Amino acid sequence: MKDGFVAKQTTSIVTGGAGFIGSHLVDRLLEKGHQVICIDNLITGSRDNIRHLENHPSFRFLKADVSKDTELELGDRVDYIYHLASPASPPKYLKYPIETLLVNSLGTYLLLKAARKYNSHFLLASTSEVYGDPKEHPQKETYFGHVNPTGIRACYDEGKRFAEAITMEFYRQYRLKTRIIRIFNTYGPRMQASDGRVISNFISQALSGQPVTIYGEGEQTRSFCYVSDMVAGILAVSESADTIGQIVNLGNPHEINIRQAAELIVEKTGSKSPIVKKNQRLADDPEKRCPDIGRAAKLAGWTPKIDLKEGLSRTIEYFSEELKKSK
Ligand code: UDP
Repeated sequence: MKDGFVAKQTTSIVTGGAGFIGSHLVDRLLEKGHQVICIDNLITGSRDNIRHLENHPSFRFLKADVSKDTELELGDRVDYIYHLASPASPPKYLKYPIETLLVNSLGTYLLLKAARKYNSHFLLASTSEVYGDPKEHPQKETYFGHVNPTGIRACYDEGKRFAEAITMEFYRQYRLKTRIIRIFNTYGPRMQASDGRVISNFISQALSGQPVTIYGEGEQTRSFCYVSDMVAGILAVSESADTIGQIVNLGNPHEINIRQAAELIVEKTGSKSPIVKKNQRLADDPEKRCPDIGRAAKLAGWTPKIDLKEGLSRTIEYFSEELKKSK
């Protein structure tokens, strides 16, 4: 990649490419024939998620922190930047609050500058957390949100809100080809058992016979999207000309409460684990969350295909295999 050599293949950068959603996105881009540079500092991502790609001729891994420009070496050609790098599960961003703020602020700025330099497409992975504890339901992209700017979740919520604001400025000021997706709760293979999110907690607890821990009364709702649907959505948005300069929700609008999720997982795993309530809800934990995905359907022709029962079966199978390997 030196002295005037320009790669012939479409080249995509995936930051956070060793993470849960990022690594699935990397797989799909390679299948599509892209050259992929995966950048990850591995604070929450895992090399295990990309180990199967180590000898792939179109794959390159760069262990780097995108909030430090000295660490970015991108080569000669960059067509797409998918910026997914950030701790994303509540226990992880609570553990790394400053890193979370920096990767979403400075990291996003540096990657936007790189996108400008290479004239590449830029996709920001934002989050449903920008809606905070929402007062509008389901959440449309036009809703401004209800966020505590200084609470314990602010490192993530406000980090992503800043990331969205600066992305929109690069669109408005420089006509950069930007897209913002707001990712709602997503689950599937390669979630880490220790990740702390609800689906991974419930499945690992149910499979190992531990109590399944509902935080609070379990009346709070979420809408869970299977990871292959999410990645299909990311690609559909990034390939549509109609989504440039737009913000698009991605998620599955099937909403359930946390108690129902616990019961379903206990039933599907055939587990004897008891379901227990714990007084462990974080401050500002949203009461309900459900995406309006009309815009994704209209602008990118995308809707999710895998229902919760099917997605959970696949995820439970993955967790069972991982559990066997660890024994
Ligand atoms: N939750 C729970 N038990 C767990 C983990 C999480 O009841 O073991 C709840 C949590 O309080 C929240 C919901 O499940 O209301 C979803 O939490 P998660 O950490 O998956 O992500 P969030 O949607 O809050 O970002």
